Amino acid sequence: MQRLSSYVQGAWHAGTENSETLYDPTTEEAIAECSTAGIDFGACVRYAREVGGPALRAMTFAERGKLLKALSGAIHEHREELIEIGVTNGGNTRGDAKFDIDGATGTLAAYAHYAKSLGDRKFLSDGDGEQIGRTARFHAQHVRVPRHGVAVHINAFNFPSWGMMEKLACSILAGVPVIEKPGTPTAWLAWRVAQITVESGILPEGSFQFLCGKTGDLLDHLGGQDCMAFTGSARTGALLKGREALVKNNVRVNVEADSLNAAVLAPDVDASSDTYGVFLSNVVTDMTQKTGQKCTAVRRILVPSDRVDEVRTDLVAELARIQVGDPRDKANRMGPLSSKAQFDDVRAGIERLAAVGDVACGGPQPLTDKGYFVAPTLIVAKDGEAEIIHSDEVFGPVSTIVPYDGDAASAAAIVRKGGGGLVCSAYSNDSDWLETYVLEAAPWHGRIWTCSDRVAEQTLPPGMVLPNLVHGGPGRAGGGEELGAARGLEFYTQRTALQGFKGFVEKAFGAK
Ligand code: NAP
Repeated sequence: MQRLSSYVQGAWHAGTENSETLYDPTTEEAIAECSTAGIDFGACVRYAREVGGPALRAMTFAERGKLLKALSGAIHEHREELIEIGVTNGGNTRGDAKFDIDGATGTLAAYAHYAKSLGDRKFLSDGDGEQIGRTARFHAQHVRVPRHGVAVHINAFNFPSWGMMEKLACSILAGVPVIEKPGTPTAWLAWRVAQITVESGILPEGSFQFLCGKTGDLLDHLGGQDCMAFTGSARTGALLKGREALVKNNVRVNVEADSLNAAVLAPDVDASSDTYGVFLSNVVTDMTQKTGQKCTAVRRILVPSDRVDEVRTDLVAELARIQVGDPRDKANRMGPLSSKAQFDDVRAGIERLAAVGDVACGGPQPLTDKGYFVAPTLIVAKDGEAEIIHSDEVFGPVSTIVPYDGDAASAAAIVRKGGGGLVCSAYSNDSDWLETYVLEAAPWHGRIWTCSDRVAEQTLPPGMVLPNLVHGGPGRAGGGEELGAARGLEFYTQRTALQGFKGFVEKAFGAK
């Protein structure tokens, strides 16, 4: 049994009491254990602030960017080994594991690239300076500087590698040390990435700590210069956001939570068009990639009422081609759910959705005697208004077809019932239809992805989070925002409006 340790205050720490067990979701075999028992969480926070923070702030953006580039390379060197861990502990197919691991190294590399444009400076100019006095002499400039705290990052189980490194990339580039905590059921991969990070010696001491297991009273030690970025369920997000110490000390909090992402097919898209082909392929990918355990996966498929039978038939045929089974076998395109808890949740969720619809394929029954396997499950809503379709995120290979009347504004009104999402996709060759849809849906979304025949050949799927675009969404999706190139640094920096003699303000802090 592998014991997964935590890296705190410059040393590895393996707690032995109150251990949690990790499993191989294909075989249900216990494979690893972890515990944070005995860790002094307050000391971790102080160590980050006192050792890691000053070391990072002594560097320029360009220098910190070089760290990210080197780290990306160091992790990439272990790609094969990391893929194996993703297969064993996450139930990932090789393709799914690569998506997570390459997502991590790709995001680190992208932020290393942005760093070059930020240059040899230790602050960021925010917009242009402006005259605020009677004459040009009295001047103002907004600047952004790294906060003198620590960033606590709490991640979900579904992207142990990418989830950790996308947050780390922004924080380290901004000059703020991190304490990373992965979701426990799949923490082996995050732990190995953490080991590679520490062994590489690339990051300055104190700038990276890693907790494998419970966070104890960690959050109670955070203060006004610190921040906490959380990714996970809306329920946990709300619980942590409301924690007394965070509220009292005005700790900056970013929450990335659930999302009932929608794909909307417009009435003009005929079955022979490229756009229709992309629609089918994206829905199938979103439902089955990572066994549907993706925060951006499509949960609701809006289809004009008179096309429901056609889309149902086509999707069922496509989903039937997805072979489900042991992810070690390359013939299988979908593996198990990542944990017993996920398996139980998804099966119960399918039953709840089946109560308001017809099961077109799949269902809640287990596919095998051992392992957490369910089939890709497509449900056709009997009543598109049923609340559960718009409020219950079944975090697995499950999606529901919701009929609508073909009008762009009505589609957006139905999508908005999700209460705020990370991404929605819309398929149409009618620009007026798309424009209406975007304006009606955008306030409820962090990202809107559109497809027409003009771009069908070159689109990246809507489920793919890109480092240059923001990730996050309002309302139910957590109200947070991450990534988005330089926008991703805002959370970790303080914006200060600087006023004074133009000769000083502009020379020292002006935009270059
Ligand atoms: P979760 O159960 O809410 O857990 C998320 C993280 O919070 C885990 O690291 C968990 O640790 C930790 N946690 C739970 N209770 C805590 C507490 N009281 N104090 C401190 N930490 C605590 O979610 P999950 O099952 O891992 O992930 C699935 C959910 O994440 C889905 O709802 C999905 O939509 C969402 N998600 C959202 C995004 C996004 O970007 N918006 C991305 C990925 C996933 P333990 O594992 O040790 O309990």
